Amino acid sequence: MAFTIMEGRDIGEVRIFTMSTCAWCDKMKALLSVNGIRYFYIDVDRVHPEERKQIIDYLDSIYPKWGFPCLLFDNRVLIVGYQEKEIVETLGLSVLVQEESKSMQEPLRDEIKNTMERLQRFSEKKRASLNPDKSIAAKLVSGLLENQNRYGYWACPCRLSTGDKMKDKDIICPCDYWEQDVAEFGACYCGLFVSERVITGEIIQAIVPERRLTKAE
Ligand code: SF4
Repeated sequence: MAFTIMEGRDIGEVRIFTMSTCAWCDKMKALLSVNGIRYFYIDVDRVHPEERKQIIDYLDSIYPKWGFPCLLFDNRVLIVGYQEKEIVETLGLSVLVQEESKSMQEPLRDEIKNTMERLQRFSEKKRASLNPDKSIAAKLVSGLLENQNRYGYWACPCRLSTGDKMKDKDIICPCDYWEQDVAEFGACYCGLFVSERVITGEIIQAIVPERRLTKAE
């Protein structure tokens, strides 16, 4: 597998499987980088289909319920999702990622800003909201726009797409699962949409388990 190496302090083999369009994958990379450790990452949505199949089979063989981001430490500990506390404790990290990333200090592209405003209006009609963390919401919206260019439709930025609209129709944003996930967990799988209860602080946004049964291959 063609991992990219990020040089730093060697604490053991840290490998992460990520999506280039996923905000939580970016956050995991940032957390490892800010702690200056050596790690390997692979953006699975960017690899050749044959290699992608190999990766899917490999992860399936370790833990069939894997998702993005996925961290493997010394070939034994698997952490699925951006579970900050677990990552920090497992790897012995000491520095956390700042809430607002550097990119958020720069003005957003009009296309992203306009799409975020449109999605905010859409979500309000459903008694939900865009994620209040603007850096997360902007990254996910930017992923949707990138997928529009790549596939011709808004494939979910946190799930692998086949590039076949019919096969992916349940994960075209807003996906078939989002309302149920927002009602049950306070957020959609990607965390783009959250419930009013998350906004008011009544509940904390949780890691949302994958409700979808099929995987892109
Ligand atoms: S609504 Fe569904 S497709 Fe859209 S970002 Fe959330 S999880 Fe992904």
